[in-house]
Amino acid sequence: MKDLKNKDIYNFLKDEIACHLELKEQFNCDLKEQEDNELFWEELSEHLDCFTICDVCHKPMIVGYCMDGSHYCSDDCVNQDYTEEEIESLCTDDNDNCYYTNWYENSIIYNQK
Ligand SMILES: [Zn+2]
Repeated sequence: MKDLKNKDIYNFLKDEIACHLELKEQFNCDLKEQEDNELFWEELSEHLDCFTICDVCHKPMIVGYCMDGSHYCSDDCVNQDYTEEEIESLCTDDNDNCYYTNWYENSIIYNQK
């Protein structure tokens, strides 16, 4: 399994898009240039479940926090809504609603089921 970070996302998604003929035509462009194009990522995320979108900076993300349904790509972004103490007290093993995760790995596990 690839060890992906959010900074690898453009190359990673480029490969993913290349694997899907129907996406290739619609999303065939320089992904890095779309960095701030919220709509672009929303549309792409409807086709690919291996990434999600940060609710603060609206950039695509592979790893990050899921807090009560909101997604955060980095400490900077999650700290807009939660303090470090809050994160620590919320992200516990018995709280299924708050966790740090990897969407790419989740999608592989999910698709294998
Ligand atoms: Zn973010």
